[in-house]
Amino acid sequence: MTKHPISRLPHWLRRPLPAGRHYDLTGNTLEDLSIQTICMHANCPNRGQCWTRGTATVLILGHVCTRNCRFCSVPSGRPMPPDPTEPERLARLVEQMSLKYLVMTSVNRDDLEDKGASHFRDCILAVRQACPNTQFEILTPDFMGFEQEALAILQPALPFVFAHNVETVPALYPVARQGGNYQGSLALLALAKQVLGPIQTKSSLMLGLGETDDQVIQTLKDLREVQCDRLTIGQYLKPDKHALDVVEYITPEKFEWWQQTAHDLGFTWVISEPFARSSYFAEKQAPTPS
Ligand code: SF4
Repeated sequence: MTKHPISRLPHWLRRPLPAGRHYDLTGNTLEDLSIQTICMHANCPNRGQCWTRGTATVLILGHVCTRNCRFCSVPSGRPMPPDPTEPERLARLVEQMSLKYLVMTSVNRDDLEDKGASHFRDCILAVRQACPNTQFEILTPDFMGFEQEALAILQPALPFVFAHNVETVPALYPVARQGGNYQGSLALLALAKQVLGPIQTKSSLMLGLGETDDQVIQTLKDLREVQCDRLTIGQYLKPDKHALDVVEYITPEKFEWWQQTAHDLGFTWVISEPFARSSYFAEKQAPTPS
């Protein structure tokens, strides 16, 4: 594998700062309705592109997480109780922006009895009532210890895609995803298929944290073993100075190779490129030829 010096950002990872009328329009609409986004809180490098296209990934249940993953810039601490006005504000967002596809995610809410599952459901139901044709993709935390119950709570809301990210290979969990459980994440994806029925499941991986190719291939196989349908693979980028360092920049050619490898393993929807994130072009029905 080609290695690149990690002190300088390679040319394929340089992008202009986000700006422009359409970008501002999305930002202003979100601000007017006090909607949080993971685009902002995770310092996502795709903000310029996504917001200019009029799409954003909403972050429900606040922006303080009960865990402390070292790849993430979302602050850790004691979150506020769920905001009962959030479902209605989201419905207004979808109406105002005429969104046909909404990706919704949240921080870990280990402090809540139901881990936040009922708030996900309430948000979907409120938006669906106002905009019946909108499709939903939810990217959930692991609902650790409450998986079966959480999925039963979500059942009436039935999103189009249920996503849960393994994020990295299991060998790197002790450094990157302390508090997470790789087998538990796989089990949640498997359970979602059983409990939610006709849905697509999805997961995401970040590369560049020091994983080996063999470890990544095994992780892809593990995801297929639990019938995960959709996958994104992207470059890990340090979101702030406290986060884990990048160990390696993976070339665009290598991402193309991962794209083909993932298709060969049976994933039906794959985006593998340096800037791929879980919600990147999530609304595309068929992003790549299989
Ligand atoms: S990739 Fe996802 S998180 Fe990043 S800016 Fe786009 S919608 Fe937001």
